[in-house]
Amino acid sequence: MSKPKPNRSTSNAREGLLDVTIVGGGPAGLSAALIPGRCLRRVLVCDAGEPRNAASHAMHGYLSRDGIAPAEFLKIGREQLAPYETVAFRKIRVEDVEGGAGNFTVVLEGGERVKSRMLLLATGLVDELPQIENFRQFYGVSAHNCPYCDGWEHRGQPMAVLGSCKDSADLALELRLWSKDIILCTNGAPRCDRAALELLDRNEVEVIQTPIARLDGTGAQLERILFQDGSESARSALFFSPGQYQRSHLAEMLGCEFCPEDGCVQCSEDASTCVPGVFVSGNASRGLQFVIAAAAEGMQAGFAINSALLEADAELGGVKSGAGDEIPPAPILEQTHS
Ligand SMILES: Cc1cc2nc3c(=O)[nH]c(=O)nc-3n(C[C@H](O)[C@H](O)[C@H](O)COP(=O)(O)OP(=O)(O)OC[C@H]3O[C@@H](n4cnc5c(N)ncnc54)[C@H](O)[C@@H]3O)c2cc1C
Repeated sequence: MSKPKPNRSTSNAREGLLDVTIVGGGPAGLSAALIPGRCLRRVLVCDAGEPRNAASHAMHGYLSRDGIAPAEFLKIGREQLAPYETVAFRKIRVEDVEGGAGNFTVVLEGGERVKSRMLLLATGLVDELPQIENFRQFYGVSAHNCPYCDGWEHRGQPMAVLGSCKDSADLALELRLWSKDIILCTNGAPRCDRAALELLDRNEVEVIQTPIARLDGTGAQLERILFQDGSESARSALFFSPGQYQRSHLAEMLGCEFCPEDGCVQCSEDASTCVPGVFVSGNASRGLQFVIAAAAEGMQAGFAINSALLEADAELGGVKSGAGDEIPPAPILEQTHS
């Protein structure tokens, strides 16, 4: 059955003004769109198409979707948003944001400008990969950063942790849950303290300081680590604890506050930041870095945004249904350059 056409005679007084622009169409952003979409809010999701887990072939730990390819998961998410005619998805980067609460102007790649009342940043993080020759060949299949996401697939296998800091030592210790054959390759002198090294020793994690020459394997399957002194260690998987930084500069540009320890955007329980009208969810903010957690945070943000809009409209006696309104999927206000 075809969808009923929107009623053109009841054009929204706020035509051209979206309720919320969501920057980032990963698990957090897509999930966030669902709640305001179900409330007939006018929502635009802009996604640059660079999800954090792009290198992964299988996503784990999301009940009902365990083992699904990350790209397939996002495709399903976008498909499930499609019936909501007030929600639009665009594969485009947001370059800039001007204005403030109630009247943000979002500048898209290419110069298009879109206005919205609220803004959600679901822009994610970037992981810093180890500087080892041919590391990328194995990344996502047999080289991972999270044992909860990928440890089970390598249970019982000989594994290595790459890194010299305390976080790497902790990761090596943690990996003992999945295998008794764990080494820590510090690729030079360790940067963790003696107590951390003693703990590793007590838990039978060997520390190898010899600099790494390269990784070796078949396709994306790691088989051994080759060291600069000519020695090698047969390993089926390696893990590392990456440094991370925000994928987008927008939060900084808008004046959001960041956690000094990990660089995450600071927000309240309802996902609101210190900048009025700006919300944040998923890995860009603090919390467990799992897909299901990012999706849950997105949902919380979607709820908070809808509540904030409702409160603002109620004050002005302007609460009204969006049903039947003419709703352009993504109103483009002006194009400054081609
Ligand atoms: C290799 C790897 C494997 C992983 N495996 C698992 C796993 O098995 N299970 C699990 O639960 N978690 C896993 N994770 C963690 C998981 O990837 C994250 O928890 C999840 O992706 C966070 O979702 P997000 O929506 O916050 O961010 P992302 O998924 O990173 O999505 C953010 C989106 O915002 C877009 N964006 C950023 N800036 C802009 C902009 N200016 N304009 C438009 N779009 C923008 C990006 O392009 C991206 O598409 C893995 C991570 C890695 C690195």
